[in-house]
Amino acid sequence: MQPPKSCVCVICGVRPAETVDHVPPKCFFKGVEDAQLRTVPACSICNNGASSDDEDVRFYISAQIGKQNPASAALWDGGAYRTITRKLKLRKSFLANTREIQVCEEDGSTTNRLSFHVPFGTYQRVFERTTRGLYFFHTGLILPAAIPVSATMLAGTPNLDTDEIRMLNVEAIGKGACVYRYGVAAEDVNSSLWIYEFHKAHWALVTTGSTE
Ligand SMILES: [Zn+2]
Repeated sequence: MQPPKSCVCVICGVRPAETVDHVPPKCFFKGVEDAQLRTVPACSICNNGASSDDEDVRFYISAQIGKQNPASAALWDGGAYRTITRKLKLRKSFLANTREIQVCEEDGSTTNRLSFHVPFGTYQRVFERTTRGLYFFHTGLILPAAIPVSATMLAGTPNLDTDEIRMLNVEAIGKGACVYRYGVAAEDVNSSLWIYEFHKAHWALVTTGSTE
């Protein structure tokens, strides 16, 4: 899939685009061919400034979903584990707010899981960049910088069986490593809704424009 062209960075909408940026971040994918990943024109400031945020968010996603299948195991072994061993600040923050909780399973048994908070600002920055990029990728339009983008991490699998969600476009990258759904409002092109799913286990909801 070829992205539309732009000589202006599609993330900030201001500076000249002299690089291409991966959306979602390239480090979210392990063992996925480059040709399957999505890239958009970006300036070097938007592109290079993001890799530390990307690694932090990859770590939290990977810690949440665990090594339940080969692809999510590769995400942990091939990157997230290295990130947590290398980044002292991230490690401290993770350990400071992580606790073990007991979760009741459907069969009545209990299992221990880790519960932790993902830093809001980092998560917001990564999903704002990803969404601005994919918005351009699919519409050919640059979302104006003044239009707000807001990202929320969902606690569990959202109900996808509703009329509103069935109307969204569905896109998949890398054998389901990332599936995202999106829709742009017909009456206001700056308003859009995005639902991201990583390894069927981590979900994020992003909206652009007014959200009444
Ligand atoms: Zn930029």
